Amino acid sequence: MSYKNFPMVPRVIFGRGSFNQINEVLAPKRLSINAPFIYFIDDVFKNNTWLLSRISLSYEDRIVFVSAKEEPKTSQVDQLVENIILESKALPSGIIGIGGGTLLDLAKAVSIMLTNEGEAKDYQGWDLVKNPAIYHVGIPTISGTGAEVSRTTVLTGPEKKLGINSDFTPFDQVILDSELTKDVPQNQWFYTGMDCYIHCIESLTGTYLNTFSETYGTMALDLCKEIFMEDNLSDEEMQEKLMMASWHGGMSIAYSQVGIAHAMSYGLSYLLGTKHGIGNCIVFDHLEDYYPEGVKLFKKMKAKHNIELPQGICADLSDKDFDTMINVAFSLEPLWENALGKSWKKTITRAKLKALYQKM
Ligand code: NAD
Ligand code: ZN
Repeated sequence: MSYKNFPMVPRVIFGRGSFNQINEVLAPKRLSINAPFIYFIDDVFKNNTWLLSRISLSYEDRIVFVSAKEEPKTSQVDQLVENIILESKALPSGIIGIGGGTLLDLAKAVSIMLTNEGEAKDYQGWDLVKNPAIYHVGIPTISGTGAEVSRTTVLTGPEKKLGINSDFTPFDQVILDSELTKDVPQNQWFYTGMDCYIHCIESLTGTYLNTFSETYGTMALDLCKEIFMEDNLSDEEMQEKLMMASWHGGMSIAYSQVGIAHAMSYGLSYLLGTKHGIGNCIVFDHLEDYYPEGVKLFKKMKAKHNIELPQGICADLSDKDFDTMINVAFSLEPLWENALGKSWKKTITRAKLKALYQKM
């Protein structure tokens, strides 16, 4: 038995208003006046002087606004990398991602592809990256995905939706300022928050569970219960706690895996473009046979926050469409093995998956 040797985020700042320190964090990392800092920022912040005025751009530094309407694609990463190379005299000093999982993943992927040949799609998988990435910083503005701590960047490519999982993927620096999450719309808060809750359930009930994952997962799950089921927290406390739940949930799956909701939600995302948070909710709602306790509590949370999930998103799909989703879901073998054990192929069939998708 050989144990995995995982990298972690080496530096983190936590605190309300800590985003103010961005310039002093970056300054010592500047390599030369020709080597800019490039900020990828969710375009919801485009006219937001409260946030933007705190970033001081020098020399060739620039901000690139990116929409989070769609999840990151390998071709989008390649395009962003090409733009940087065309517009800069030297490789950047750093890439800073400010936003949700979409922006954090883009920042990670761009920082890797600036120092590795070829196209982003060539690196979807496990440990395919050869060279260290450019210095990269993650600043979440919505909590739940755990993308701020994880060793992956999830991309949709021409053939698959799969992460670039590598030792070079984790951020070199993270800034956790819960104040940045204060204007997240209520529905999106729930969907992305539930991503964290589902990470906990899938990790804690999985066959890959170990004490490392269990301790982080239990902490994150307790925080989720407090945030989504109790009424005694102030907005500020909720934001801080969800930020830490996301972190711990991400740490929990680092040393285990996610499970069925994620596998099936990748299928929805690949075929229909359904986004991760809401997609996980749509799937998880139907997984009571696999996660009875977790789904029961999920339904209570959903009711408490008056969340109405979309229905019938698979109503008009063809057999070929179902096959595509099932293929994507089944290609994520470690997720199934974690959920159902080594002989998972005997427990779950294409027909069962199709029946589940048909309910959604
Ligand atoms: P997101 O980044 O897709 O953003 C969701 C919505 O919230 C967008 O409309 C965005 O503009 C908006 N938003 C974000 N911050 C806001 C703020 N402060 N105020 C107002 N609106 C705000 O959401 P997400 O759920 O964080 O990320 C989903 C992505 O994360 C998916 O692409 C998924 O694949 C990825 N993901 C990655 C990992 C990982 O480990 N790398 C893990 C889970 C999910
Ligand atoms: Zn997730």
